[in-house]
Amino acid sequence: MKVAMISEHASPLAALGGVDAGGQNVHVAALATALARRGHSVTVYTRRDSEDLPQRVKVGAGVEVVHIDAGPPTHVPKDELLPYIPLLGAGVAADWKSGAPDVVHAHFWMSGLAALDAVRLLSAGNMARSSGRRRSGLVAPIPVLQTFHALGTVKRRHQGAQDTSPADRQFLEPAVGQRVDRIIATCSDEVFELKAMGIDATKVSVAPCGVDLDLFSSEGPAEERGRTHRILSVGRLVPRKGVDLVITALAHLAEQGRDDVELVIVGGGGTADDLAADPEGRRLQELAEELGVADRVVFRGQVSRDEMPGIFRSASAVVCAPWYEPFGIVPLEAMACGVPVVAAAVGGLGDTVLNHRTGLHVPPRDPEAIAAAVARLLDNPELAASFGQAGERRARARYSWDRVAMETEKAYRKALQGAATTEYATVEEVAL
Ligand code: UDP
Repeated sequence: MKVAMISEHASPLAALGGVDAGGQNVHVAALATALARRGHSVTVYTRRDSEDLPQRVKVGAGVEVVHIDAGPPTHVPKDELLPYIPLLGAGVAADWKSGAPDVVHAHFWMSGLAALDAVRLLSAGNMARSSGRRRSGLVAPIPVLQTFHALGTVKRRHQGAQDTSPADRQFLEPAVGQRVDRIIATCSDEVFELKAMGIDATKVSVAPCGVDLDLFSSEGPAEERGRTHRILSVGRLVPRKGVDLVITALAHLAEQGRDDVELVIVGGGGTADDLAADPEGRRLQELAEELGVADRVVFRGQVSRDEMPGIFRSASAVVCAPWYEPFGIVPLEAMACGVPVVAAAVGGLGDTVLNHRTGLHVPPRDPEAIAAAVARLLDNPELAASFGQAGERRARARYSWDRVAMETEKAYRKALQGAATTEYATVEEVAL
């Protein structure tokens, strides 16, 4: 199958940890590669965000990344990208002139708009070319599948006035959901949210995110700890990830007389030295100082993929305390490394982390509960080890990218079947 993926802001080639570079980049890169392993050919279209990028980059057998000129060739925050999306759609459609894909898979709501636009432009172009010989102007539709990664309704609910998404997202995102052929949700909570948006659940497939099991495993070296126990937080440094809650939990542990725990924080747009220039990095550093725990918090800044497994393996527990989480690949990476997870039971974390089996659930935004859960694991090494082992088994059994690619391929086939039975559009309908 020839698959076109569109990932407007999240390039599979980007470095991770910055404000807009995290799970979606990992997801698109790993899914494309796993689909290629299954014999498909995948082209990932993303916006050019640097002048130095070549137009086409081959990323292993069967996967190519194409940079489309759409807006300035520099980093533009994703919440400011909407005006450039028509250019992205047009650029993708132009690339398809040399051969259209069988399916289009869009990642994030704005890529859905670009995908629908590209399919419309291609159909209109084909129709114009074949108008002399067309059979009453019929066009075969290319099915569009959509993975939202995050939903504006959920973001708005949790972030309120701090949500910097463009105002039109509230209309455009549900419209994408209505118009695409199929939606691939990453967790059961998302299906519930999609239904609440008025989307027909029969057109939703569920395929979770996966974890790179060759990279992340309990076998291999672990970094040295600075104290007896180490708790770890990994992710983009944005308020909704709740890193401040983990620092506050560490302060509760210190108040209880525990001097044996350090907190390592991975993430941020640059090195640890750059963090003071980043508003969220600075806020977190100031919080650690205010709470008197700066001496036991280590900010690592952006860490490369290759270094991540050794850091995960060095942790006594990984803490994921987001306000909300569309999926969350970090807990899976921790599980694959055999490390127990303390997780706020929100979004995808409710599916991946099993309470009292692979980790402990805590209520969202509750540092005292985080501190209690961490203390329980640190004081019960056998329990922690059994959670870690169960986590590794679970990650290996359910969350390989090969398995996710298989589920995704099923969704592609359903969409293709649906498209095959769809009434073909007429020239006039396409023009609408
Ligand atoms: N990550 C990384 N280096 C960093 C920070 C994050 O490699 O400095 C990776 C992390 O290991 C995970 C991804 O970025 O693979 C974050 O994905 P997740 O789904 O947990 O969060 P999102 O970014 O989608 O909110």
